[in-house]
Amino acid sequence: MENKEVTILSNEYSLRMVDDDETQSLSIVKPSNNLDVAYIEYPNNTLSRSLFKNFGLMHLVANSFPNVIRINFLLIPEVFEIVQAMYAFNKRAIPKIKYFDIEQETTPNLLEYKLTDRKAVVAFSGGKDSLWNVWRMTKSLGIDNVLAVHIAGINRSVSAQEEKDTLAQRKTLRDFPQLKIVKLKNGSRISGKSVMRSRDMFITSLIIPIALEFGASRIVIEGNMGKQDQNYQFTETESSWKLYNKKIEELIGSPIKVEWEDADDVECLADLIKYWPRSVPTISNCFSPPFARKNLRKKWLEKTPNFILQNPSQCGSCIKCRIVRIAMALNNLNYPAEEVIFFLKDTKEWLKAKKDGVSDIIGQDFYSSLDKAIDVWDNLNN
Ligand SMILES: [Zn+2]
Repeated sequence: MENKEVTILSNEYSLRMVDDDETQSLSIVKPSNNLDVAYIEYPNNTLSRSLFKNFGLMHLVANSFPNVIRINFLLIPEVFEIVQAMYAFNKRAIPKIKYFDIEQETTPNLLEYKLTDRKAVVAFSGGKDSLWNVWRMTKSLGIDNVLAVHIAGINRSVSAQEEKDTLAQRKTLRDFPQLKIVKLKNGSRISGKSVMRSRDMFITSLIIPIALEFGASRIVIEGNMGKQDQNYQFTETESSWKLYNKKIEELIGSPIKVEWEDADDVECLADLIKYWPRSVPTISNCFSPPFARKNLRKKWLEKTPNFILQNPSQCGSCIKCRIVRIAMALNNLNYPAEEVIFFLKDTKEWLKAKKDGVSDIIGQDFYSSLDKAIDVWDNLNN
């Protein structure tokens, strides 16, 4: 394997990774004064700076797994263990860390925080799983004990739309908890499925300082973790999060934990349709590139005007949009039958044509829910 060496330079909340061919960067942007109150000034202490640099490093190296990483800040031993586990998970040799011009400020200053498990922070993207987590957390803890945090910019191609939709959700849903948005300038190259090697641990680590200030010992993320399976990435497996929680506790000395609840897509949506119906038209989890959405949506506006995703940013045709519509068809029988059947048949055809390309992200519950919906609506129609 080639011997790749990179240099990562840090400066407050900004990281720049330089190698022979390119520069990648990550930084937290200060909100301008006229933005919505949800945009926060990011906590500024040695711990928050350390977490940003350390997990930012993890996110930057996850694309190419360099063998030598030169840095001018301290890589905390606990975090290095997580980085090593990510390398091992991807069958890469453990990287060598070389220090140069190390910054004065090194070890994080561990402040005393009073945390309670009666408070939780939800890592919020605007999608159905985020909404489901907000719903079940506010139901069990009370709206004042839940905080939703959106890291804007993390999913580069769709981030502008996600940010817009998240703000709209906070504004239109009366029973939405307090929202905080952290704005990230994301110049990392990692994309597609591989982004899950590191993305969710970068997100939760950016949330930790906010959770500490809020007094919450729980950070809630999406569930359905995989077992040690080749189809899953490092931050999609339970064992990786066990390691993460253990190392974070060793580092912070407080029992702050990342947690999740498993439920399949249709179950989550059924809960939202039943118990938080106002949230359903606001769901934002379309997979299609923003420029293509309007065109895809045109067909549905024409053929199924009464059975459509109401959020105009959703295409209606991608895997994410289709699962929401299947759940709608299963949980509300008041739509015009011919429109629902048109959609279900179209989905059957779409699956046939797509099979190879997306089969690894289409879960078994998609097929069974689709067949169930076809049964229900065929019966209803006869
Ligand atoms: Zn879509």
